[in-house]
Amino acid sequence: MKILVVGGAGYIGSHMVKQLASKGHDVTTLDNLSYGYRDAVKYGEFTEGDLGDEAVLDALFKSTRFDAVMHFAGFIQVGESVIKPAMYYHNNVVNTLTLLDAMIRHEVKNFIFSSTAAIFGEPDYTPIDEKHSKQPINPYGHSKLMIEQVLDDYDRAYGLRSTCLRYFNAAGADPGGELGERHIPETHLIPLILQAASGRREDIKVFGSDYPTDDGTCIRDYIHINDLCEAHSLGLQHMIENDRSARFNLGNGKGFSVKEVIDIAREVSGNNFKVSYEPRRDGDPAILVADATLARQDLGWKPRFADLKDIVETAWHWETTFLCKQ
Ligand code: UDP
Repeated sequence: MKILVVGGAGYIGSHMVKQLASKGHDVTTLDNLSYGYRDAVKYGEFTEGDLGDEAVLDALFKSTRFDAVMHFAGFIQVGESVIKPAMYYHNNVVNTLTLLDAMIRHEVKNFIFSSTAAIFGEPDYTPIDEKHSKQPINPYGHSKLMIEQVLDDYDRAYGLRSTCLRYFNAAGADPGGELGERHIPETHLIPLILQAASGRREDIKVFGSDYPTDDGTCIRDYIHINDLCEAHSLGLQHMIENDRSARFNLGNGKGFSVKEVIDIAREVSGNNFKVSYEPRRDGDPAILVADATLARQDLGWKPRFADLKDIVETAWHWETTFLCKQ
């Protein structure tokens, strides 16, 4: 297939581009390089441009008849979204609408959307399945849920088929060592812990140790980046074969506390680093674990990296072979 990957120079997008190319698809990346890296796009064609730029989109859709579009170009920081909601609604909602409208103008009918566990807000129960109530508690979660709603309506009115994938915590790096996570600023737990383990950071700060969990720290469901990408590939195939839209929660279904992740990172790196304890971070639910039964059943999805140690090992390899040498 011919696939347009919007945000293909970012963390998840760049792994997706590699996987699609390895499956024999023709891939084009559109990225404005605001957070992504040109050298992370190792396969296919590349266009530098903004997903909110109609002229860029029209030119791309005229030049190639894409079978599908995957959209990874959202802003992702919960805390920032609380302080700068306009930035989040503009990029995650307005620009995404511009992209969707261009798809409709050019009759591209298949869309894969990066959604998030943040659409659920504070969980009523755990693990979280697709039926769980959706009440986001920050602008980031709202912006993603708004697009899910738009996609329901666009399906009915325009026949635009979509697969929304609600990521829990994406982690790890390309096992081949070519790609990995490079956010600036980095806000995610595993890369920050590994920076402490490699000596690039003085310590790891644990945000909150008074949560209602066994060790008092937050529990998250970490899923390897390649497993996440595999769900996109399967989701695309499923959407096209069945000609219908779908929504899936993606996680391993097993939660790890911040302290457990730190212990695993100590084991993997062989280094003992400093841990300091800070107050809770705003907007962090105590426990977020996915019930991904539907993705397993409908897509035949089976995460290969079921063990967090294996996930952290790939991230540690990236930290020591790439990031430390920057
Ligand atoms: N966290 C932490 N210290 C950090 C970064 C994150 O204790 O420096 C915690 C955070 O409060 C959350 C978990 O680690 O409970 C995962 O956070 P991350 O930002 O990686 O992902 P999120 O769950 O927010 O998507």
